[in-house]
Amino acid sequence: MAIQGQCPKCGHRVLHVNVEQVVGVVDGESKARILSYSCIHCNAVLGVQIDPRSRPRPKRRGESPPPA
Ligand SMILES: [Zn+2]
Repeated sequence: MAIQGQCPKCGHRVLHVNVEQVVGVVDGESKARILSYSCIHCNAVLGVQIDPRSRPRPKRRGESPPPA
């Protein structure tokens, strides 16, 4: 399957992206780890998302047990 994605800045096809871990800030406070994807050719940021690997573990004490 051919990769069709193009960088909107430099026009290269997006075969690779730089993945950087950045910090999401809410009201001046660091709240979440974020993954930033940027073009390897021109470093334009193509997208960001919350890092699914580093979700803070919720405290479950006193709450209903998590579903199995
Ligand atoms: Zn680019």
